[in-house]
Amino acid sequence: MKITTHSAQETQEFAEKLARQLQPGMVISLIGDLGAGKTTFTQGLGRALGVQRLIKSPTYTLVKEYACNIGLLLHIDAYRLEDVGGMDLDLPSLTQGDTLTVIEWAEFIQEDMPESYLEIHFYLLDDGGREIMLQSHGKSQRYEDLVDTFVE
Ligand code: ADP
Ligand code: MG
Repeated sequence: MKITTHSAQETQEFAEKLARQLQPGMVISLIGDLGAGKTTFTQGLGRALGVQRLIKSPTYTLVKEYACNIGLLLHIDAYRLEDVGGMDLDLPSLTQGDTLTVIEWAEFIQEDMPESYLEIHFYLLDDGGREIMLQSHGKSQRYEDLVDTFVE
């Protein structure tokens, strides 16, 4: 499933719609070039989940935690793990319980990712818009169902 957005606000509105379908324990991988909209999307998600603090790109901190109305929103930026992989990131224990995990640059820690997750690609379009593509990774019915709810 894919959609095109023409502003940061539209990307955040899409994130807000998606947020309503999310369940605790879910993991979302955000893939796309620098400036493609991964953090912007996460901000929209956070707003819909009742996060009060401003979500900023966690590039220099790796993991940021935000209280939200389903428990905890974990915002991870794996960019600086490109060379070392996810070794110092204990994903299985981080993603337990009432936690929603969003990972920018998850392709850099592929070997540490769970078997199934929601994958979202962001592409910069020539006209300045963004194409956002949603797909279920692995064989999990709940991610497939989630993607299905967005197919018009
Ligand atoms: P990333 O985290 O992928 O590096 P950011 O979300 O930090 O990207 O930055 C995206 C930038 O592009 C922001 O400054 C945002 O305002 C701008 N922007 C313009 N159009 C869009 C759009 N359609 N979707 C998301 N961001 C957009
Ligand atoms: Mg970012």
